[in-house]
Formats: sequence, C-alpha cells, structure tokens
Amino acid sequence: MPHACQICGGALEEFLDLGRQPLSDAFLSEHDPQDEFFYRLAVGACSSCTMVQLVEQVPREKMFHTDYPYYSSGSSVMREHFQQTARALLDTAGPDPFVVEIGSNDGVLLRTVHEAGARHLGFEPSGKVAAAAMEHGVRVRNEFFDAGTAADTRREEGAADVIFAANTICHIPYMRSVLDGIRTLLAPEGVFVFEDPYFGDIVAKTSFDQIYDEHFYFFTARSVQAMVAPFGLELVDVERLPVHGGEVRYTVARAGARTPSAGVAALIADEKARGLAEPPTLRRFAADTARIRDDLRTLLRRLRDEGHRVVGYGATAKSATVTNFAGIGPDLIEFVCDTTPAKQGRLTPGAHIPVRPAEAFADPYPDYALLFAWNHADEITAKEQGFRAAGGKWIRYVPDVHVS
Ligand SMILES: [Zn+2]
Repeated sequence: MPHACQICGGALEEFLDLGRQPLSDAFLSEHDPQDEFFYRLAVGACSSCTMVQLVEQVPREKMFHTDYPYYSSGSSVMREHFQQTARALLDTAGPDPFVVEIGSNDGVLLRTVHEAGARHLGFEPSGKVAAAAMEHGVRVRNEFFDAGTAADTRREEGAADVIFAANTICHIPYMRSVLDGIRTLLAPEGVFVFEDPYFGDIVAKTSFDQIYDEHFYFFTARSVQAMVAPFGLELVDVERLPVHGGEVRYTVARAGARTPSAGVAALIADEKARGLAEPPTLRRFAADTARIRDDLRTLLRRLRDEGHRVVGYGATAKSATVTNFAGIGPDLIEFVCDTTPAKQGRLTPGAHIPVRPAEAFADPYPDYALLFAWNHADEITAKEQGFRAAGGKWIRYVPDVHVS
C-alpha cells in the first residue's frame, strides 16, 4: 500500500531508500552499543501537492528529548546569522512586538530579542538546550508547539506579531496541527517566518546527507505555498540563504494581508522549469546519491589499504546518514572529532566510530580528514590551517567525492 502525504493525504511516490538508519543524535556509550533503535530512511514526493517527505516517522520524543545535543550557538557564523535575523525581524515588526519562536534551542535568536527589550516566548521541548536559553533571560515554554499550546499562548499572552522558526518546521511531521496553531496565534498583520534547508539546493548539490530522522520535510516554494493555503495563509516572500548548505527563508502572512513579492512567483517558476520534485529529477538525484556512496567507499578503502590515517571531522546528524548508508565504520575512519561534550567519548550512531574532542585533531595530524560538517567548511578550514600546513588533505563528498 502506498504511503500517504502528511500534508494533503495524497499518494507518496518513494524515490530514495537510504536503508536502515539509527537516530542521528543517539550517541552510544562504549559499553552498550546493542540496544539501538533503527528505522528505514526513505524519501517520497507527493503526487498531489509535490511535498517531499520521509515515508516513515520517528516518534518526536525519541528525537527532541532532554539530552538533545545540538546547540545552535555552537557556530560563530550561525550566531551572527541569528543576531542579524533578530534585528531584521524587530525592525519590520512595528511598535511593541510580541515575537514567538518555535524551536528556540539555546536562545541564539531570542537572546537578541530579549536584549532589545521586546516581548518574546520560545517553544523548546528539549530540556537542556531550553535551560541554556533561560540562563540568558529568554522566556521559554519547555513544550512542543502545536494547535493546543498555540491556543494557550493566544489566550494567555495575546497574538504574535512575528512567529519565527529556524531549522525546526521541517522537523515536524504533524504540520497540520502546527499550521492550525499559527492561524490561531498570528496577529492579523503578523508574519510567520521560517527558514529550512531548500530542496532545490539539496538536489543541485546532491547533499543527500541533509536527509535524516529530524528532517522530515524538504520544502520548495511551490510545496510551501500549497501547504499553507488551506489554513488561510499565503506565502508572501522567499529569500535564499547560504547557511547550512543552502536554505530558503519563507515569509507567510494571512491571505490578502500582504502582496506577495515578485520573488515568490520567480522561485516557483524556476522550480517548475527545473522539474524539481518531479520523477525524472528525483530519479537522477537517487542515482547521483548512489554514485557518491560508491565513490566514497572506494576511496576510503583504498586509503586504508595504502596505510593512510583517516579521521572524520564533525559528528554531525548528517554524518549518520552518510556512514550508515555507505557502510563506513571504525575500520575506515579511526575516530570523528567534535566540539560537543555530550558526544565525546561515545560511539557514533549505527556506525560505532569513536568520537573524540576537537583537541584530538592535532599534531600528529591524520593524513586525511573526511569533512562531515561541510556546511561549516569556511569556518573549519580557516581554523584548521595547521592540518593543511602538516600536509593533511580534506575529503569532501558534496557535490561529489573529491580530495583537496
Ligand atoms: Zn501532498
């Protein structure tokens, strides 16, 4: 039986199967790697509304739990990005705005809003990152955002002038409840602004590692426009962003409240011209993904057989997809270094590669480093000049496997 689209109930056409995968952030203690949760990571496109989405859902409590280890403030580039975003949102919001953020993480955006003295509220179900935000004076509800919690907020605190979300909306399979909540909470002239990885960039770069448990939807302007319309909402602006390998910031308002920018029609026309989310493009994407997997595996095996030392850089959620899909384990990669203390001293999900602190990436350097955190490449290569000076080489696999 075909799977149903979570947005419109239409038939999902599966086009890519990335195999059996663990939870992307479930780092294991060295002593108990047995008790792992696996699911089938496969992607389909809706034949009605074109939304690209996972065919299987992982329960949200398994992903966004107390120990959720991703801190948005971890990258200086992202801190600067969200400070600028917060200022831009406040500049356009009118007097005394109420700013709500869905998935406020460690408060990387709301800190700026708070420091500007503006009313704000974050929704963040993951306990430790929410606590980090509260330590900076940010107001947080330690809950999921949905129709129920949105209605509570509307009743208790009034309508929101800005509802913002970064790298969160694509995480939420139960989108109809979220959009229902936005319809309830949004002020008549308010805006719902969200930014997420853009499927157009994922296809252009063959960045198949953007596909993992937390990324449930892969948006296009066309599918977002169709997704919000049944809720009396309208896509009124789109902006391409260079962060996280290519994102789009979507601005949504109540239907008729604002005139859509020319950019909306232009991006949708571009998506249609490319045949994005249509079967020939999706088949080519799947074939390119398989080629990268084969090339990467071949390269790593050759390097091992030649006696070279190879380590991974960045135990990212993305790296779980790559290592498990390509069968890359500790026989091919000695360890992965990562700055997140909660991951250090543990094993990567599924592939069971040891994770070491960033300081482990030091003299004597390995011969090669596989750059899993390729979306932060500029920041990392600038920081790790000693590796290059020692003759080390970076291995990249987006948009294809290459050594530099
Ligand atoms: Zn659909």
